[in-house]
Amino acid sequence: MVDERFDAIVVGAGMAGNAAALTMAQRGLKVLQLERGEYSGSKNVQGAILYSDMLEKLIPDFRDDAPLERHLVEQRFWMLDDSSHVGLHYRSDDFNEEKPNRYTIIRAQFDKWFSKKVQEAGALVICETTVTELVTNSAGKVIGVRTDRDGTTVLADVVVLAEGVSGLLGTRAGLRDIPKATEVALAVKEMHFLPRETIEARFNLKGDEGTVIECVGTISRGMTGMGFIYANKECISLGIGCLVSHFEQTGETPYGLIERFKRHPSVAPLIEGSEVKEYAAHLIPEGGFKSIPQLYGDGWVVVGDAAQLNNAIHREGSNLAMTSGRIAAETIFQIKSRRDPMTAENLSLYKDKIDQSFIMKDLKKYKNMPALLHTQSQNFFLTYPQLVSKAMQSFVRVDGTPKVEKERMTLRSFVSARSWFGLFGDAFRLARAWR
Ligand code: FAD
Repeated sequence: MVDERFDAIVVGAGMAGNAAALTMAQRGLKVLQLERGEYSGSKNVQGAILYSDMLEKLIPDFRDDAPLERHLVEQRFWMLDDSSHVGLHYRSDDFNEEKPNRYTIIRAQFDKWFSKKVQEAGALVICETTVTELVTNSAGKVIGVRTDRDGTTVLADVVVLAEGVSGLLGTRAGLRDIPKATEVALAVKEMHFLPRETIEARFNLKGDEGTVIECVGTISRGMTGMGFIYANKECISLGIGCLVSHFEQTGETPYGLIERFKRHPSVAPLIEGSEVKEYAAHLIPEGGFKSIPQLYGDGWVVVGDAAQLNNAIHREGSNLAMTSGRIAAETIFQIKSRRDPMTAENLSLYKDKIDQSFIMKDLKKYKNMPALLHTQSQNFFLTYPQLVSKAMQSFVRVDGTPKVEKERMTLRSFVSARSWFGLFGDAFRLARAWR
């Protein structure tokens, strides 16, 4: 292990850690990045949609050599009951642009590429090394890390904690609490391999065009959760995740959910005949604004999922991770350039910048949404999808029933399921949490 002092140590080589290490190395800081996995990306799980804007701010010409799958021209939202789906579907040729806005990626490949950029910028990246402890001085300031390589200690002016959602290092050091079961979802994901032409025919795509389908409804058995189906070049990423507290309450299993999701009549034809080559499970931070911990202290900052910076409503995580990593690194560079110490007071600038960015503005906007969805999950994820599906079926089925009678029956079904008071209450609560 290395026996020298660094300007910064970055713990973790996911989206946030790579963004932080790259930004500091590009500015000439002496950076050590430690990753417990065999290589960057070996432990990481994502759907995965990549948001170009946030990566462009780090690597403007990333399209030249990044391992990208398909650029997205279409987004579908499906609300499912057990036999049907009601869909909202947006497709635009405008997304066939010179610099597409979103891509599907495969994290194991993408992170490897990202890590190569970090190393080319001059950072020292060491994998298969777990940081076991933060090292502090007598005043409690973080001054380095201890690793599992014979307990080696490495010192630095500042430690960037980019250790992902579990964040064991930070929680063990007492910098933040272990995320509660109401603040994290457990997601499972499979990669279904099919010939490229089959994927393009099934999803109505040509060339490298891509599509994603986000699914809610009875697939989550009344728990707060979502499913997803993303088209890659030669495989389909399919997964589903629900709140850990709801798994605990219901006794449902992630494995049971994904099996049922794959058998749904709207989903099964998309993956028919595929070969499953990968299966992964991972946590997602879902507590939103109210679960964000302290973001900085004497000698340390925390970025990405470890800081609960994840927008579950919009399914955005990697972009918040890259942005928080970049902002933390820019702040550290700024403090270093002034030759100031990495004290909590100076590092509070990181929090100020995060507050001014889209990250905190978006998370603040939805601050009441997690609590609403967690407490009303039976209504929003079970009752309403069933009611809406029945209403749609009644609307399109031609059976000689007068339309006025159909409308009355539909209205009666909503009122008998939720009552007038419940219906207005749900609409009011949803509108209030959305604003
Ligand atoms: P991670 O990517 O988890 O990286 C943390 C790294 O730290 C890991 O490599 C880990 O091995 C390492 N590490 C941890 N502890 C230590 C230690 N003690 N020592 C050394 N190394 C350590 N986001 C999107 O933007 N789009 C999507 O489509 C999307 N889909 C998702 C689907 C699923 C199923 C899941 C689970 C997440 C999804 N996300 C998505 C969220 C996204 O994956 C995360 O927000 C993002 O990966 C967070 O990046 P990070 O760097 O903070 O954490």
